[in-house]
Amino acid sequence: MSTTTDEVLGYDEALASFDPVMGLEVHVELGTATKMFCGCATGFGAEPNTQTCPVCLGLPGALPVVNEAAVESAIRIGLALNCEIASWCRFARKNYFYPDMPKNFQTSQYDEPIAFEGHLDVELDDGSTYRVEIERAHMEEDTGKSLHVGGSTGRIHGADYSLVDFNRAGIPLIEIVTKPLAGAGERAPEVARAYVAALRDLLRALDVSDVKMEQGSLRCDANVSLRPKVGEPTSAEQANVPLGTRTETKNVNSLRSIERAVRYEICRHAAILSGGGSILQETRHWHEDTGVTTSGRPKSDADDYRYFPEPDLVPVAPTAERIEELRATLPEDPAARRRRLQADWGYSDLEMRDVLNAGAAGIIEETVAAGASAGGAKKWWLGEISRRANEQAQPLADYAADKGVTPATVAELEGLVKGGRLNDSMARQVLDGVLAGEGGPTAVADARGLQLVRDDGALEAAVDKVIAANDAIAQKVRDGKVQAAGALIGQVMKEMNGQADAGKARELILARLGAS
Ligand code: ADP
Ligand code: MG
Ligand code: ZN
Repeated sequence: MSTTTDEVLGYDEALASFDPVMGLEVHVELGTATKMFCGCATGFGAEPNTQTCPVCLGLPGALPVVNEAAVESAIRIGLALNCEIASWCRFARKNYFYPDMPKNFQTSQYDEPIAFEGHLDVELDDGSTYRVEIERAHMEEDTGKSLHVGGSTGRIHGADYSLVDFNRAGIPLIEIVTKPLAGAGERAPEVARAYVAALRDLLRALDVSDVKMEQGSLRCDANVSLRPKVGEPTSAEQANVPLGTRTETKNVNSLRSIERAVRYEICRHAAILSGGGSILQETRHWHEDTGVTTSGRPKSDADDYRYFPEPDLVPVAPTAERIEELRATLPEDPAARRRRLQADWGYSDLEMRDVLNAGAAGIIEETVAAGASAGGAKKWWLGEISRRANEQAQPLADYAADKGVTPATVAELEGLVKGGRLNDSMARQVLDGVLAGEGGPTAVADARGLQLVRDDGALEAAVDKVIAANDAIAQKVRDGKVQAAGALIGQVMKEMNGQADAGKARELILARLGAS
């Protein structure tokens, strides 16, 4: 690994002289129950080498069979990306040696991808849209995973020995490759992030993958090149300038890193090119901690993988009817869906962003469908439940699933508050009980004896007692300082062991003090 730090140019300076062009390659691990060409399980995190068989270990004589569910997912992804779907295509062998690839070739697709010539419209932060042209989406299989033991970096250099886990070998992958993306100018890094975010949302809506970047089920390689700037990024003169030499930054595994890695490569290329140097076409590694890329291996366009059609598999030939059936299963476009939900729920842009960041749109939609108000659903999911999920460092949906909290649970809880049985603090206690596995909200409220006191006489008595004991505060309220009533409400709640309806207590206090 190189020990010198690369020179970089300031971003604005880089953009003043150069026009960036990107190409994004995204690998998606499909969420099928079994692997691409055998019946092995695909679950993440199993004991190494327990999910293998002669086919995915590449043992002599083992014969692959295509996973129909994976092909259907590939077609649905292609359709959602507005691609054409091949009526006939083959797999190809991509030959190279690597220890984590037991067959010494990867079964992939080459010049006959299942889907090609598509596009995805991506919304940017300012509300404008950038159209990402898709070159192709093809089917392939994942490799195994090498674990390099003994070095300080986890990379092969400096390691004492390496172990290989073949559980991942043969998991279905779809590789989605964009055309060279030009015209974004200074917004290139933002476009890269927004594209991968939009693709992730789309794949999630299609329910074809769990799209967890941190677990590697969605991985992005970012190609970047610069060419001299001769005009506006979208101008015809600029489009006519030949593309520069690209570098390919591998496996950038968060949305933020994609934006940073593209930006870094732009600044690094710019420093080299302004100094009269030339870019080496190579792969690069992104370092999350230091925010830089380092050199990987040289990579020419002519890398010879000796591709040839896979003789052990029959061609994939979906009928036009089947393709139309699959098209009918496509979900609503995620961006359109976001706009529709926000309008239905009456959330502000900020509120909607919070909901999306928490990955809670689906859960809130179901909670509203189960009878909750949009405000109430958001309040519980993004408030109490999110807070507890964060404490456990779990995504909201995973936490809720673990604890058995469903949209119906939250709707029921909110119903108890709306119906006047519980106040907010009692509802939080009920939630505690639900999370502790004591049952549903009504059952927990019953078992814990949580119930607002309905007896107005008791509430009136408590209000009178508190007013009598707090002359000074009461006088303030009488004089029109209505905020001062808060302190009295607090005391009434205490007086009634938290079982009073705070709204009612407030009304009563204000009426008694002539301030309502
Ligand atoms: P490779 O085998 O090197 O991964 P691919 O065709 O799979 O090649 O992907 C290359 C990616 O880089 C594509 O998204 C392509 O559009 C993009 N690309 C090609 N040439 C350039 C260039 N000069 N600058 C930026 N991106 C490029
Ligand atoms: Mg590639
Ligand atoms: Zn297998």
